[in-house]
Amino acid sequence: MESPFLRWRNFLSDSAARKKYEDYVKAADAKVGAFLEFDADRGLGLVSDANPGADLAGVPFAVKDIIAVKGFHLTCGSKILENLVSPYTATAVEKLIARGGVMVGKTNLDEFGMGSSTDNSALGKTNNPWDQGRVAGGSSGGSAAAVAAGMAAFALGSDTGGSVRQPAAFCGVYGLKPTYGAVSRYGLVAYASSLDVIGVCARSVEMTRAVFDIIRGQDEKDQSSQAGGSGPAAKNRVIGVLGGNLGLDPAVDRAYRKTMDFYKAQGFELREINLAMAEYYVPVYYTIATAEASANLARYTGVRYGYRPDYAENPEELTRKARSEGFGSEVKLRILLGTYVLRSGFQDQYYQRAHKLREAIRADFDKAFGGAGLILMPVFPTQAFLRGQSGLDQFQQKLADRFTTAANLAGLPAMSFPAAVEDGLPVGMQFMAPAFGEALLFDAIKLYEAQFPCPVPPSYKPEWIEGS
Ligand code: GLN
Repeated sequence: MESPFLRWRNFLSDSAARKKYEDYVKAADAKVGAFLEFDADRGLGLVSDANPGADLAGVPFAVKDIIAVKGFHLTCGSKILENLVSPYTATAVEKLIARGGVMVGKTNLDEFGMGSSTDNSALGKTNNPWDQGRVAGGSSGGSAAAVAAGMAAFALGSDTGGSVRQPAAFCGVYGLKPTYGAVSRYGLVAYASSLDVIGVCARSVEMTRAVFDIIRGQDEKDQSSQAGGSGPAAKNRVIGVLGGNLGLDPAVDRAYRKTMDFYKAQGFELREINLAMAEYYVPVYYTIATAEASANLARYTGVRYGYRPDYAENPEELTRKARSEGFGSEVKLRILLGTYVLRSGFQDQYYQRAHKLREAIRADFDKAFGGAGLILMPVFPTQAFLRGQSGLDQFQQKLADRFTTAANLAGLPAMSFPAAVEDGLPVGMQFMAPAFGEALLFDAIKLYEAQFPCPVPPSYKPEWIEGS
């Protein structure tokens, strides 16, 4: 089979192509704002063996700025880490560079991955390539926007509660959230460690599959990583779908029906499943995620690295000022919530209870996958929303995480794909599979892609972009 990277191979070693590409990124990113840092030269410098035959030779890719790449900033979208330059490289990125891939830049995100719009970044604004007045989604909004606008062949993001799938859906690209532990988290700055996973944004199913195959695997530097093997075989041709009133915007509802009709016409059996625990996904997710975040973010004290206030009387004041001046309001809110649910004497009421519910959510999916081979559901109840009053506020955004957080809580793989373009904006749907069933996701979505390829945003159509 033809390599999915063919179109991009040796792209950066041909000086004419490279100049065209760099000029394009400069012009496009002035409008999109996907990158916090872009430097193809520095990226090329990380490739030690310039083997033009390597599958990723000269292929530009981008990395969410919460994943470490040596010599590049590692800001996490936060003022508290604004000046931090990473002394090491994440395993997933290391593996791509070893195949000749060129890490061209670090992409914008909601601070520490907390959000669904990328507007919670302290360091820049990212616009949706389909409509500049709308958000790119989040928290990996920069990664999804860079890929959608053809500024990188693919990009890495992280998905704790939907942060690869949701921006991919908003920007009209593919977004994979692998099985928990399938990809090493070494070099991924921790938000909520029991939910975090590095994922992939790309413009084709085969490229997503190829990147995943490179970055996956056990890593001695991450004890929770696993080899995974070849994964489960396709169980049957039954697709579980959600019934009842899902509270979707009309365009998303139409797209959900369109995908169901498509798979039915392909000979799949669609079966309505009852996910009894669905109402608990969001509260359980926000209890566990904030609890873990409050512990993970305790390390930013302003002492060893990161933002330092101009003046402090003593170490305690230094830390207090560094944290109150360095963190944004959403991050502070979550640290407070996390500390609240973990406080002594109240753990039974919130944190332990959330863990019991998480177990029940896992069991619910085991049951669902007893009958269905795959589950098809929306990614988000709306398309890319507007900024400001007409958009969604932080609380509404959290409630809207009700479809994506399930895969993280249960540790299962899920992948979003561009299902339709409605009113000039893409709509994404997602498949979920049993643990290590990524290949099942790729195979199912490939059928859809053959008929409805990745859409191209009208204002961003460089000649090297794939799709229709
Ligand atoms: N919207 C979710 C949150 O704010 C998802 C974040 C993520 O996956 N990093 O927590």
